[in-house]
Amino acid sequence: MARIALVTGGMGGIGTAICQKLADSGHTVVTTYSRPGKEVAWLADQKEQGYLFHAYQCDVADFESCQAMAAKVVAEVGPVDVLVNNAGITKDTTFRKMSKVDWDVVLRTDLDSVFNISKPFVDGMADRGFGRVINVSSINGQKGQFGQTNYSAAKAGMHGFTKALAQEVARKGVTVNTVSPGYIATEMVMAVKEEIRQSIIAGIPVNRLGKPEEIADLIAFLASDHAGFITGSNIAINGGQHMF
Ligand code: NDP
Repeated sequence: MARIALVTGGMGGIGTAICQKLADSGHTVVTTYSRPGKEVAWLADQKEQGYLFHAYQCDVADFESCQAMAAKVVAEVGPVDVLVNNAGITKDTTFRKMSKVDWDVVLRTDLDSVFNISKPFVDGMADRGFGRVINVSSINGQKGQFGQTNYSAAKAGMHGFTKALAQEVARKGVTVNTVSPGYIATEMVMAVKEEIRQSIIAGIPVNRLGKPEEIADLIAFLASDHAGFITGSNIAINGGQHMF
């Protein structure tokens, strides 16, 4: 059965791989973007690679924007069965230098977004008796990271949300899980100076960066019927960099 999957921030480094993998596994894929115009080149590039995606503008930090996007998606594409809360930002600086704006924008984009986007879709999943909510957190939400009190707090908050919602909807066929990637070879990480990147890799037991496709494979598995007994979990995918 072709299910509809919605991936927030699907035009980013990891998001693109998630969209492609969910499409490869038979889903109709909808993605969101926040900056208008960005979607044109991305959709054209995906089409060249054989992928046809639906794209909707939405600010995940804004509840009304998410409500409006969700209503359009349901009316124009159909009910969403799989939701991947992937959009996220960083605004790194030490706590001493961190402004209230730096704090608020990261908490709103990385944590409030999970409420804003899940809210319009989860009831429908429960009513239909099937659903998957997959939240993309981070290794730094598990272990904390220098210069990331805002990001670490937001990403850690996802774990509490996941475990609480998982309990509320488990009997309705809806699973809720979190994946926590370590360092992934996205543009952001590849732009880091070679020597710094090598020192990061030296701290990863498998001795390499992760690939966006590896995150996407895990998410596609969690989205599938095979993962119906996994809920309320956090799955670390970090090459052994942080074990708990
Ligand atoms: P990118 O910066 O490549 O992509 C982030 C996406 O989020 C973009 O498509 C962006 O869309 C979207 N986004 C940001 N703000 C908003 C907003 N207000 N409303 C809607 N969309 C928004 O990041 P990655 O692909 O690297 O990361 C994806 C996720 O994985 C993030 O949650 C990140 O925290 C997490 N992660 C990444 C790691 C890594 O090594 N890369 C490691 C651990 C976790 P637009 O440009 O249109 O705003």
